[in-house]
Amino acid sequence: MEPLPEFKYHPDPVKTGAIGKSEAVCQCCGRARGYIYTRTIYAEDEIEHICPWCIASGDAAEKFNGDFVDAHPLAQAGLSEEIIKEVSRRTPAYESWQQESWLACCDDACEFHGDATKNELLALIQDELVSLAKEVGFTFEVLSDVITHYEPKGSPALYKFVCRDFGKVKYHCDFH
Ligand SMILES: [Zn+2]
Ligand SMILES: [Zn+2]
Repeated sequence: MEPLPEFKYHPDPVKTGAIGKSEAVCQCCGRARGYIYTRTIYAEDEIEHICPWCIASGDAAEKFNGDFVDAHPLAQAGLSEEIIKEVSRRTPAYESWQQESWLACCDDACEFHGDATKNELLALIQDELVSLAKEVGFTFEVLSDVITHYEPKGSPALYKFVCRDFGKVKYHCDFH
């Protein structure tokens, strides 16, 4: 099997579940290449099967005139057109309860690393908890409670992003 293409902003899409093994035929290149994208492309037509290669090349976004990731939060963060395009049109999305929001840091989009683990949240120190509470808009008490009851893929969900410059970890919180 061919090695998967690299996604600068989504380094391990198999681990996060955005790409899975499948014999499905890609509706963009017409080939069954062993892996298929498991999330949605926002396009006019309903497209079910896209392979990771057609995401990485930009062919799928172009062919179906669709986006994988919502560009709006990235535009709001003031990122360059080039970065916004790479994330929204050439990067596998992540699945969230209501609205995904790709995070940015240091004038770049962050890498997406999937659902936070419970252990990493429990290991956060006081200062990190204070800034996380501010980021997700919870009081410190509510955040502590959320972490106590947190389960990956549960609700509230905490999605992990990493700054590509300094490795700072950020989380996006969403619930249903
Ligand atoms: Zn394809
Ligand atoms: Zn940063």
